[in-house]
Amino acid sequence: MPKLTAAAPPARGPAAGGRLLLPVMDEPAPTSSSLALLALRCPRCHEGHLFLHPATNLTGFTDMPAYCPVCGQSFEPEPGFYFGAMYISFGFAVGVFFAVGVALYFLAGDPDTWVYVVGVSLVTLVCTPLVFRYSRALMLYLFGGTGYDPEWARRVRRE
Ligand SMILES: [Zn+2]
Repeated sequence: MPKLTAAAPPARGPAAGGRLLLPVMDEPAPTSSSLALLALRCPRCHEGHLFLHPATNLTGFTDMPAYCPVCGQSFEPEPGFYFGAMYISFGFAVGVFFAVGVALYFLAGDPDTWVYVVGVSLVTLVCTPLVFRYSRALMLYLFGGTGYDPEWARRVRRE
């Protein structure tokens, strides 16, 4: 079971000067929700990263912060929220099966069945971190109950 870190929402209060502590951004936030989804950013601010580690980190690619480190948006709106991401993941897996099957058929000249099995298995295994992360991100963007709010940063910084 992937773990959500039990970190509190971003600090606010006297120590933070009453402001939300905003980390230094490594790149500008995409204004398009599609681009923010592709970049695996928070659906509300498009700045905070949805995952703590890169997809190549085989032991940590599933770890998400409980809240957006930038705007405090919850990344798990309700318990068990990401069970629905399994259906999205299944859709991605069918796409991978189909793409690899068609590619082998046309590029390798309809090889033996074992080649299909090995090819599909290898590509599915390699794509697992991406499928997992984009399934969760899609679930959060589609059913998380929040949308892009470009004004949030200005409001928070004025407080
Ligand atoms: Zn955010």
